[in-house]
Amino acid sequence: MSNWPNTLQEAIIFFADDENCQAFMIAIRWADGKVRCPQCGSERVTYLKNQRRYKCYEKHPKSQFSLKVGTIFEDSPLGLDKWLPAAWLIGGCKNGISSYELSRGLKITQKSCWFMLHRIRVAMQTGTFEKLSGTVEADETFVGGKVGNMHLDKQTRMRMGKKRTGGFEGKAVVMGLLERNTKKARVKVLPNTRAFHVRTNVIDNVQKGSVVYSDSLRSYRNLPADGYVHEFIDHTEAYVRGNIHTNGLENFWSLFKRALKGTYVSVEPFHLQAYADEQCFRYNERKGTDFERFALIMKNIVGRRLTYNELTGKEELMEREPG
Ligand SMILES: [Zn+2]
Repeated sequence: MSNWPNTLQEAIIFFADDENCQAFMIAIRWADGKVRCPQCGSERVTYLKNQRRYKCYEKHPKSQFSLKVGTIFEDSPLGLDKWLPAAWLIGGCKNGISSYELSRGLKITQKSCWFMLHRIRVAMQTGTFEKLSGTVEADETFVGGKVGNMHLDKQTRMRMGKKRTGGFEGKAVVMGLLERNTKKARVKVLPNTRAFHVRTNVIDNVQKGSVVYSDSLRSYRNLPADGYVHEFIDHTEAYVRGNIHTNGLENFWSLFKRALKGTYVSVEPFHLQAYADEQCFRYNERKGTDFERFALIMKNIVGRRLTYNELTGKEELMEREPG
């Protein structure tokens, strides 16, 4: 409908203009282009130019609102001229973008940028209940090194240390699933590679009757009992046997690790799932243009919230415990 930007350079110039930001937010939030009050849904609203806010004519508290209300940006003092380029950058940079790089680019503090990026990552989670099907690769990788050297709180230590099997002390397990037909991936951080977690992850994400290819890890061996056709390749013997391999995921892991090591340097285990989802989003949407990826993130930004407490608190950690 409009001449939206196509490149990073165009995006930065375009979104430096508040009117362009407003036009984009309206286009992404309301298909008919009519702004509605987030409190009551009324279309009887007017734009107050000086305050850069809207006012609803119905009688209720909080009758003035900005287009950030009801989105991940709500309550943020930062303007759309910062948020929109940030979303563009994280969607478009192949290896992600660190809060330090973003801070230099947008001229705001690194701490603000760190929080911004985490809010945007929430919009990069697929949140789909649709299961993968057909032929699906399954593989797990260990993420660590820097993670192992960082301070870990007690809970994380228990999660990653004592209960773990088949890995190294202090390393986190990330399990990947990849649908061969569509080359769409999903990733989940697991407490360890025991059969319970591996099987639960397959059951939660893969349609029964599908063919699952994995390595020789014992935790996969009971998948036929769960209703899957299972074939595995013993990596001590070979990496490919006909169609049976997990090379699609190997490719994904190499991109993921490049982003972790090169861009983010150190990631706390608590946040690892968010970084994994971020990489997964870019991987799954790699055929789209920069603008398409950006627009997809922005669509997910509407109707979601992430407070600082949620981001740094313990509640979310509990929720992530499987089972
Ligand atoms: Zn209203």
